[in-house]
Amino acid sequence: MKTTRRRFVQMVGAGALGVGLGPRAARGQAPAVASPRGYDVAVVGAGVFGAWIALELQRAGRSVLLIDAYGPGNARSSSGGQTRVIRMGYGDQEIYSRWSMRSLEKWKELFRSLGRPTFFQQSGVLWMAREQDPLTVKSLETLDRLGVPHERLMRPELEKRWPQIDFGPITWAIHEPESGFLMAFHAVQAAVQRAQRLGTEYRTARVAPPSISAGRLAALGTDRGEKVSAGTYVFACGPWLAKLFPELVGDRFFTTRQEVFYLGPPPGDERFEVGAIPVWVDFAEEIYGLPSFKGRGFKVAPDRHGPPIDPDSLERVVSPETTQRVLDYAGRRFPPLKGAPIVGSEVCQYTNTSNGDFLIDRHPEIENVWLVGGGSGHGFKHGPAIGEYVAARIDGKGHVDPRFSLATKQTVQQRTVY
Ligand SMILES: Cc1cc2nc3c(=O)[nH]c(=O)nc-3n(C[C@H](O)[C@H](O)[C@H](O)COP(=O)(O)OP(=O)(O)OC[C@H]3O[C@@H](n4cnc5c(N)ncnc54)[C@H](O)[C@@H]3O)c2cc1C
Repeated sequence: MKTTRRRFVQMVGAGALGVGLGPRAARGQAPAVASPRGYDVAVVGAGVFGAWIALELQRAGRSVLLIDAYGPGNARSSSGGQTRVIRMGYGDQEIYSRWSMRSLEKWKELFRSLGRPTFFQQSGVLWMAREQDPLTVKSLETLDRLGVPHERLMRPELEKRWPQIDFGPITWAIHEPESGFLMAFHAVQAAVQRAQRLGTEYRTARVAPPSISAGRLAALGTDRGEKVSAGTYVFACGPWLAKLFPELVGDRFFTTRQEVFYLGPPPGDERFEVGAIPVWVDFAEEIYGLPSFKGRGFKVAPDRHGPPIDPDSLERVVSPETTQRVLDYAGRRFPPLKGAPIVGSEVCQYTNTSNGDFLIDRHPEIENVWLVGGGSGHGFKHGPAIGEYVAARIDGKGHVDPRFSLATKQTVQQRTVY
């Protein structure tokens, strides 16, 4: 057992900031069977939720195994994109504003501890509004109440600061100067690396749907025939939760295809780089974007839910319809980008719950199983707060918020959290 544990701990630092493979895996062999003594907690899924849950449980002194079918922040996962926005404005959904504030602190602390402060880019976030916009007005009230630094900018000021934007029908906006974006894939790797340094064991393997007897889960099996035993099991599997628990979650998750585009500004044009333009959200048109980071392209992505998909087999190639919509929008809102080439793209999925609230709950029939997911297109930023919340729940501590319960998840979609 000790050998196994030591081997996985030694994986730290094997890649640039990569999560190292064990020597056997590196040679293409199946890793050794998990420790017979079992772990305190096995976390299935090393997306942003599972990575932070593992890290917080490890910090709380638990022995933790983290498993992922394709690897932390892999290309099929929702956490695998290049960048994710972190903002504090959430209308009147104050808990998410609070969790964003808490999470930003913890993200920065994590990146500092690994010598990677640039994984958070404080570009500012501009939430653009039309004349009558109840959600933005409510955000303003919440930000005031919570003391989040922000500015209310009217049209003349917007035009003065960002002449590269044609604001069209937008009359005002909230600017959060201290918000920005996270380097998503690297950020997940960073959380896993930190957890490993503290003792978490990580392995790549797909966990089979669990078989349950007598109200407790005794062990997990992987595709390779390994058995993993733990006192508690956390399933943080994004859209795959619906595959592992079809009866419970199958019709309460709405997994949708989402496309992301990177446009290439003209040569020598720095008006779309970090520092020159903030993250922006055009809520009424259901579209948002991010400044180009080191020439990687100006991101433009519709936030409107796409068609349902299967995350394992989805072909991740953008569609002609969305391409046209994005190019039309970009040419209109950002005139210097009219006719700009697409220099990159991603196809990912949102795992939506009925209204956008996350699912964080104990399995109703299996007392040592927890279900965590339903990131609903806005979950990435909250990874650290979710990690703390889950670790506290498993410890029997902390405030329980009913909005995260399975019982509140409906089978018909009606989005209220943005
Ligand atoms: C295009 C796009 C843009 C987004 N923009 C933002 C944004 O700007 N800001 C923001 O805060 N959020 C954003 N989100 C949402 C955010 O990315 C997600 O809410 C978040 O990444 C969800 O993380 P997760 O850990 O729940 O799921 P995932 O990242 O999908 O991770 C689940 C993991 O479980 C693993 N797994 C599944 N089944 C098994 C199994 N049987 N055995 C072992 N492992 C398994 C998978 O391999 C995967 O790695 C965006 C999402 C998308 C798609």
